Amino acid sequence: MIEVKYIYHSCFAVETDNTLLVYDFWKDSQDMRLMNTIDACEGKQLYFITSHFHQDHFNPLIGVIPEARRLVSYDTSKRRQIKPPLATAVLRPGDTYEDDFLKLNALRSTDVGIATLVTLPDGITIYHAGDNNNWYFTDDEDDNIRCTLDEMEGMFISNLRELRAITKSVDYAMFPVDPRLGNEMLRGACQWLQQVKTGHFYPMHCWGRWTEINEGIAQLKELFPETEFVCTTAEESNEEPIFLDEENKETESTASSDQA
Ligand SMILES: [Zn+2]
Repeated sequence: MIEVKYIYHSCFAVETDNTLLVYDFWKDSQDMRLMNTIDACEGKQLYFITSHFHQDHFNPLIGVIPEARRLVSYDTSKRRQIKPPLATAVLRPGDTYEDDFLKLNALRSTDVGIATLVTLPDGITIYHAGDNNNWYFTDDEDDNIRCTLDEMEGMFISNLRELRAITKSVDYAMFPVDPRLGNEMLRGACQWLQQVKTGHFYPMHCWGRWTEINEGIAQLKELFPETEFVCTTAEESNEEPIFLDEENKETESTASSDQA
């Protein structure tokens, strides 16, 4: 069995027969869906997988909850002090981790850290993008630009190639659909879906702007009828609103010189 639960922002809890994979835990939902799921999965091996150190992808609790295997990106290890032996593995793009329950390929991101491809023993594949996306910010402020739009797109396409060298299809994909990109919100997702045959697609990094997301997902459904799109609305997901306040912007941009 596979059950994918959206938690908040880019955090998902993916339950399998014998594991619970928790991705990019930042905040729980208001009804404590993550903590309840962890409790309900007692007896299953718990993993915390953290793609990068940004504040909207990290919660120090991952270092405290016992019995968990922590698979963290190199920058998370360094900047958030999740080092071995607390970290089970510290991952750079190109690294692999394997144990009795899963194999994980750490892949490149267009932002900091890694994206991850998990393959379960029965062959089921689960992709979590972290902040890997075609961040095609057409109206970007000059001082925020790390690379040109062409360079960004080239990097993203190259990352797609890296994944396709491993697999050309994934069963479950969690991928950014970020309304801050305006008209280009679906650009990365469309390129992803054109290149990677995807069973189930879960939008993330949506900043709680579910009306725009639902409109975008409706377009994706038309374009890619073979993929199942799973989008939880604000009420269903019972989440507190997300405000990108000045302090957050400051933290994100100074920490990484980009916006994701
Ligand atoms: Zn982010």
